[in-house]
Amino acid sequence: MALLNILQYPDERLHTVAQPVAEIDDRIRTLVQDMFETMYEARGIGLAATQVDVHERVVVMDLTEDKSEPRVFINPVITEKDGETTYEEGCLSVPGIYDTVTRAERVKVEAYNEKGEKFELEADGLLAICIQHELDHLMGKVFVEHLSQLKQTRIKTKLKKRQKHNM
Ligand SMILES: [Zn+2]
Repeated sequence: MALLNILQYPDERLHTVAQPVAEIDDRIRTLVQDMFETMYEARGIGLAATQVDVHERVVVMDLTEDKSEPRVFINPVITEKDGETTYEEGCLSVPGIYDTVTRAERVKVEAYNEKGEKFELEADGLLAICIQHELDHLMGKVFVEHLSQLKQTRIKTKLKKRQKHNM
């Protein structure tokens, strides 16, 4: 397994729209393993392939503290959305920034696991929020783009300054 580099907002590559996975093979399984390792190392609860500069529809997630519920979503599609909820979100690609985003309260998602098996999942609560956040990444959208232009500009300025400082 290997740790992957997580792209940092406002990196333009985060706006790439991911392509569907053509075949769930060993290359994809290795990517999934590396994404889990990278996500756990960074103490995140979700990671989209877009964030590690791989532009294919792959997402990993684990909402537990003890890494006991790893979830893989390959070629995920949200088929139903219902209700409305708000949550203070963060993102491994936008370190140190947290803000409230409005999303659907419940979603139904169809996807494949790393064995190539199709599954359907009905989610609410944090899982539903996380699914929507990660699927946004696959469409090239970062959570801060749900915020006002003013906030986005402030966040960009802050992160660019910090990135320059770290170089
Ligand atoms: Zn994110």
